[in-house]
Amino acid sequence: MAAEDLYLDRPVPTRWVDSAPMTTNSQTIVVLGDQLNRNIASLEYANPKECQILMVEADDEFEAGLWHVQRMHLFLSARQHFAEELRAEGFEVDYRVSNSLASAIIEHKAEFNPESVTAMEPLNWDDHQALKDADVELVRNNQFYCHYEEFAEWAGGLKSFKMEDFYRWQRKRFNIFMEGNGPVGGKWNYDHDNREKPPKDGRSWPTITKFEQDDIDTEVMERLKPGWGDDPHGLWPINREQALLRLDEFIETGLKPFGPHEDAMLEEEWKLAHSTLSSSINLGLLHPTEVIELAEAAYHSGEAPINSVEGFIRQVLGWREYVWGVYWLWMPEYRDLNTLEATRELPKLFTGEATTHMACVGKIVRDINKNAYAHHIERLMVLSNFAMTSGVNPQEFTDWMTYAFVDSAEWVMLPNVIGMSLHADGGMMATKPYASGGSYVHKMSNFCKGCKYDPKKRTGEDACPFTTLYWNFLQRHQERFKSNHRMFQQYAGMKRLKDLDEVGERAEQVLQLLDKGEL
Ligand SMILES: Cc1cc2nc3c(=O)[nH]c(=O)nc-3n(C[C@H](O)[C@H](O)[C@H](O)COP(=O)(O)OP(=O)(O)OC[C@H]3O[C@@H](n4cnc5c(N)ncnc54)[C@H](O)[C@@H]3O)c2cc1C
Ligand code: SF4
Repeated sequence: MAAEDLYLDRPVPTRWVDSAPMTTNSQTIVVLGDQLNRNIASLEYANPKECQILMVEADDEFEAGLWHVQRMHLFLSARQHFAEELRAEGFEVDYRVSNSLASAIIEHKAEFNPESVTAMEPLNWDDHQALKDADVELVRNNQFYCHYEEFAEWAGGLKSFKMEDFYRWQRKRFNIFMEGNGPVGGKWNYDHDNREKPPKDGRSWPTITKFEQDDIDTEVMERLKPGWGDDPHGLWPINREQALLRLDEFIETGLKPFGPHEDAMLEEEWKLAHSTLSSSINLGLLHPTEVIELAEAAYHSGEAPINSVEGFIRQVLGWREYVWGVYWLWMPEYRDLNTLEATRELPKLFTGEATTHMACVGKIVRDINKNAYAHHIERLMVLSNFAMTSGVNPQEFTDWMTYAFVDSAEWVMLPNVIGMSLHADGGMMATKPYASGGSYVHKMSNFCKGCKYDPKKRTGEDACPFTTLYWNFLQRHQERFKSNHRMFQQYAGMKRLKDLDEVGERAEQVLQLLDKGEL
């Protein structure tokens, strides 16, 4: 597909472009690794005759921790593919490998002496600081419907702000999935229809195209820094053309079953009907507007039911935009929060230094090794639930997740982990902790039937660690949570238990086994 077709064959997303920076002959435009799209605000009006491009591969980005190789490969390969697309259009691209973003800009300025250096506002806090320190002129970011300054204005006028209110506000003001002044179908929320238990009929799930590796992919593969996990196997779109194909496939075959099975988990399945679009949207290969416009169109043409379409739009227009907004509202202090004073080191079963008898955690960690991906409920209700109830340090857990997932970035990881999953922010993001025992996993998956542990038991050697740690978590933190009205039922349940001392003893054993890598 010709480069221009990648953009022109789609309806032009209406909110994609909102600023037009001036360009001069000797202007440099810095394009960051998650801004890989010709329509970003800094590039939309750029002309190869008037400006050159700086793209950076910084050692401090790739050496900060041990990355999953598929994540590293995707990040580097997508960056290089975009540089090639720009070169094919006639741009001069200075693709620079350097110690850091800041050092790359200094080196570039020394070599080319540009009259001005411009960039679009970055998604992440540290990049923003680095660009400001390097005197880079910033143009307003246009990768979301809602810019974080607008989010801050919205939130500033409210005593407390909830994702649900934000989501409805977004739908109304952008007229998305609306009928007159109200939501399509008369209801804002179809979550109730989207919590089906995992089907037991052995059905097959939507398939996705795997992409063949090209010369750039191979070259990137040969120079990867040390990492972990299975080698890339063509799963993650590395350019816009591949991302568009993934999007089309999802709309055609994935969107319909997406809603009802959003929360289900299956031993034999790694993604069920999830879209696997997050890495493409986060790197800029796709814009949320085009994703949402196609989902909405699928409802109107009868290809997908209302609960699936609303559920999907809620994730992209609601949650995704909300987490970007709160990230910028609460940074930089937010990244260090640890309100529950959780100090346990990252368990070896996450890093692969130990295996585990817990069928659920074992399966998901194996999938992460294979694909650098786990779907939302696996991240929230298994991995994070376990990390929170066992008291794992939030910053260590965040780092592990960041380097493990193909779609991670600080702006999306922090609110999801520090806020939604570990309650390390003391309730700024979620009014109660997402803690649950083995019964939730048992209800929403088929993991437990092949497990050494019993989800119903909280004491004894075969007690499910989730169940033991859940009650122990409630007990350990009862001073903090007992007056939280949303946890009334949980504490009422705990009061009825006659064996809390034994649960405490079993929790001690569980944690010792965990630390030894024998759980
Ligand atoms: C502990 C934890 C860590 C997470 N870390 C990341 C991360 O680093 N990067 C990331 O993009 N998402 C993250 N998420 C959110 C969500 O789990 C992923 O976006 C989703 O699993 C990606 O798979 P998918 O594309 O198949 O999503 P689908 O289930 O198909 O959802 C569609 C899209 O909605 C968006 N979305 C859904 N939920 C969220 C959310 N809570 N926050 C932001 N966007 C959302 C994503 O763009 C996603 O592609 C995290 C969630 C949790 C609980
Ligand atoms: S019994 Fe517990 S540890 Fe085993 S799969 Fe079920 S929830 Fe996971």
